[in-house]
Amino acid sequence: MRVHNTLTRKFEEIVSRQDNRLGMYVCGPTVYDYIHIGNARCFVIFDVVRRYLSYRGFEVIYVMNITDIEDKIIQRAAAEGEEPLELAERYTQAFLEDARALGLREPTHLPRATEHIGEIHELIHRLIARGYAYVSGGDVWFETARFAKYGKLSGQRLQDLVAGARVAPHETKRSPADFALWKAAKPGEPFWHSPWGPGRPGWHIECSAMAMKYLGETVDIHGGGADLIFPHHENEIAQSEAATDAEFVRYWMHNELLNLAGDKMSKSAGNVHVVRELLQRYSGEVIRLYLLSAHYRSPLSFVPEQLDAAEASLQRLYNAAFHLSHLWQHAPNEGSYPRLESIADGYRARFTEAMDDDFNTAEAVGLLFEMAREIHLNVGADVPRRTLEYVLDTFLGLNRLLGIVTRDVGLPSLSDEEWEMIRRREQARARRDWNTADRIREELARRGLILEDTPLGVRWRRKE
Ligand code: AMP
Ligand code: ZN
Repeated sequence: MRVHNTLTRKFEEIVSRQDNRLGMYVCGPTVYDYIHIGNARCFVIFDVVRRYLSYRGFEVIYVMNITDIEDKIIQRAAAEGEEPLELAERYTQAFLEDARALGLREPTHLPRATEHIGEIHELIHRLIARGYAYVSGGDVWFETARFAKYGKLSGQRLQDLVAGARVAPHETKRSPADFALWKAAKPGEPFWHSPWGPGRPGWHIECSAMAMKYLGETVDIHGGGADLIFPHHENEIAQSEAATDAEFVRYWMHNELLNLAGDKMSKSAGNVHVVRELLQRYSGEVIRLYLLSAHYRSPLSFVPEQLDAAEASLQRLYNAAFHLSHLWQHAPNEGSYPRLESIADGYRARFTEAMDDDFNTAEAVGLLFEMAREIHLNVGADVPRRTLEYVLDTFLGLNRLLGIVTRDVGLPSLSDEEWEMIRRREQARARRDWNTADRIREELARRGLILEDTPLGVRWRRKE
């Protein structure tokens, strides 16, 4: 599998350093508002990266942080007359609800900045002790000029950053390119005690502290939106590598931004479509399908009507699954059609090839439509059950790597035993042995499997 690494600007083979494990960190939301569909783009993409890496046999430890203390949270809270930490908690809960509705699998760890003040202090200590940071007033600054590799991710040169810029009179830093590790509390702001006085963490330090806590000094994959390359990720590298001398991240992945009418969609600019509102009209799967129809490194211009098109497309995928499930009800029990099974294998192989190539979801989605079309054209009433199951399993399995077509399509997977019981019941009904048939139905109901005899044959669903 290869991935585009922002740091080297090259495609690189993804290899684990140990036991097939990969540690992956993604910059999560700053919780001062509801997430918008631009944020969702980032979260859905990395959710799929994680699912796909697991499918390819890696054991992924996935960390996403929640930034629950930050200037914007304080400003918003002041404007709304609410306590900053309460406001952050409210939007954290809203984020978790939206994440579930979007079908995002829960990260292995979902750490919050305010719960890692101890780790942040420890990291700042190390940077001061190693001469990379200095205390000035109640603030602590990272001295960028001390870190020789500053700019390696974004391609910025320190002298260009300094030229023309100046330190504002109220600031206590030595150079305009220095950035805050710890900020002295202003009156009325939330604060934590520290050796440098009461204050709160700067914007960047939390990600270094939490990434290293959960994943060690070197993170395998670090993701986020391209808007974070500079300064956020550049600063994460500086802080982490200055503290440990180890390489902080092996593969940097950045999704391009989602725009609205040519501008980056952002909470601070106010040109947002909030996920919560879109979810009133569209399912999470529709939103995912729309977002995954573009490659993650291509910009995406959001036009709300495109969600209607995505909804119709998603329906086509469901219809292909329903088609197989309906056929199954009357399909011959015996035999198999190896030719159809190998066509399904062919789609799996091409899907895997697309995803192996820098997570090309655009092509993968295209293949699912192609497969759906082929199912309608080539899978008919003569196809035996075993083959129908094989094709359906393959089709659903690929869709689920993208987190779509996850709803029940009428053929829930059965254990061998349940399967056998349903067959025995059908045989009993065929010889009009209603007692046996009812007994089996009741036994299955006790196990949570509800049977329904329809004019098209028996169907089943799991009790909710
Ligand atoms: P924020 O809450 O602004 O800190 O953003 C959370 C995540 O969403 C970060 O990884 C951002 O890079 C990403 N993000 C923010 N805006 C956009 C956008 N318009 N398109 C794609 N990703 C974005
Ligand atoms: Zn971050």
